[in-house]
Amino acid sequence: DDLAARLAARIRDIPDYPKPGVVFKDIAPLLADAEGFAALVDHLAARAKALGATKVVGLEARGFILAAPAAYAAGAGFVPVRKEGKLPGELHRQPYDLEYGSAVIEVQQDAFTPGERVLVVDDVLATGGTVEASLDLVRRAGAELAGVVVLMELGFLGGRERLAAHLGDAPLEAI
Ligand code: 5GP
Repeated sequence: DDLAARLAARIRDIPDYPKPGVVFKDIAPLLADAEGFAALVDHLAARAKALGATKVVGLEARGFILAAPAAYAAGAGFVPVRKEGKLPGELHRQPYDLEYGSAVIEVQQDAFTPGERVLVVDDVLATGGTVEASLDLVRRAGAELAGVVVLMELGFLGGRERLAAHLGDAPLEAI
């Protein structure tokens, strides 16, 4: 639709980044464009409100850039899900597989009140491993998933299929 086309026009393909054969979706031109960035944040905030989310979770690092202003605009709180070793205090940890090797993401144990509705935001859904791990974290931290919104979905990598079993009734939306 119109919003998707306006945003897509400001996302740039970078061939062979971060390694040969990968075409990286670079959202920097969209973030740098006042009108495009505002349209994106307004959309995310509207989805957070419509889904009844009282927290918006951003996935490090580009997810932070989108989730924090969306949370503010929606009147919700912001919660960072971070890579291992970046957060202080008592944490929930979730290991997940990467193409080569594995990684761990973490959230603070007191990030949510029990049963609180949470919207998870990231820039790109690729294989779905990052979002899958974050959904497990959010549930273990006692929150209820209101939905997942990503700016862009790389459909050929099968992320949506991978996430199906983790979403419950919550929608997965790609703008
Ligand atoms: P996944 O876990 O779904 O395979 O990878 C998603 C994560 O990697 C997201 O946090 C996203 O920021 C990053 N990512 C993977 N591919 C791309 C890409 O082409 N462009 C951008 N901007 N991020 C990507």
